Amino acid sequence: MPDRIYNFSAGPATLPYEVLLQAAKDIVNFNDKGIGLIEMSHRSKDFIGVADACESLLRELMGIPDNYKVLFLQGGASTQFVMVPMNLLQPGKSATYLNTGTWSKKAIKEAKLFGNVDVAYSSEDTVFNHVPLPDEYEAAANAEYLYFVSNNTIYGTQFHQFPETGTDLVCDMSSDILSREIDVSSFGIIFAGAQKNMGPAGCTVVIIRDDLLNKTPDNVPTMFRYKTHADTGSMFNTPPCFSIYTIGLVLKWLKKLGGIPTIEKMNREKAELLYQAIENSDFYKGHARFDSRSIMNITFNLPTPELEAQFIREATAVSFDGLKGHRSVGGCRASIYNAFPREGVEKLVDFMVAFEKANS
Ligand SMILES: *Cc1c(COP(=O)(O)O)cnc(C)c1O
Repeated sequence: MPDRIYNFSAGPATLPYEVLLQAAKDIVNFNDKGIGLIEMSHRSKDFIGVADACESLLRELMGIPDNYKVLFLQGGASTQFVMVPMNLLQPGKSATYLNTGTWSKKAIKEAKLFGNVDVAYSSEDTVFNHVPLPDEYEAAANAEYLYFVSNNTIYGTQFHQFPETGTDLVCDMSSDILSREIDVSSFGIIFAGAQKNMGPAGCTVVIIRDDLLNKTPDNVPTMFRYKTHADTGSMFNTPPCFSIYTIGLVLKWLKKLGGIPTIEKMNREKAELLYQAIENSDFYKGHARFDSRSIMNITFNLPTPELEAQFIREATAVSFDGLKGHRSVGGCRASIYNAFPREGVEKLVDFMVAFEKANS
């Protein structure tokens, strides 16, 4: 990998090198057919093969039950902030939301356009440094669903215990899908933008239990109805072909590696290396509360904003890219998704130790 640097970007994020090489080849000439992947009709036998293979691999790796549909949509995760309430929430009805960061806040704003929104928990007054424990909130009586964000990309927090409220769970898993084992059958809807842990931008995967497809009010436009896409295998209109294809390559890579149990173990070890480095120092300070720490996005501060700027500058100079924290928290953030190599984490830890020595 001669010209690769360590890419800690929160999204779009690093992808497996072998996936990039394969995609580069197939963009020009798919399977030696004399036609590039991104020039092919989405209705061609070849592309339908690509999309079907991607879906079955996702079903296999995540253990998605038969009564769930898998949709490949456009509009980003942000469009799901609208589609969820548009399909499941109606005037006079309620939905419960857990406010654990920027992405949940945006989803709450959209849901209010459709029905009553009950915010059962918020960690905003502590700069979203934690997520709630199951006994710290309740779903509203007769809530249509309970909405939460499993991993808060910006703040570096993650649910380690999912809600158990008897209400259908709707979960934004954009930044930790495929990173750890989950039981899909305990969710009503899981959705995730591809660009953090699955592939390139342009596709949002939606996993939806099939009985929820029939709750949509009649006045919802065709393109915004889950059922439209479920009934047509996500081919009602042109799907995000390149993104779907690349997700398929990433899933193949993941399966070859040993699937989700293997990657989960690797992810936990990578995160532990960084959290240990933070804990072993009085110089670095983690943003997330201990019980809420994310294994995907590690957020931390240095003693002063000046030192943070210097840290990021010097890190960039030695090929660690993307370590600047999101503007709403400041500080630093290392995003270490599935494809981020352990070696890069080890090198960052060495760099942190040396930087502390030189500057504390
Ligand atoms: C990045 C992100 C989003 C926004 O995704 P878009 O595809 O840009 O709309 C939503 N939720 C979470 C948790 C994210 O990390």
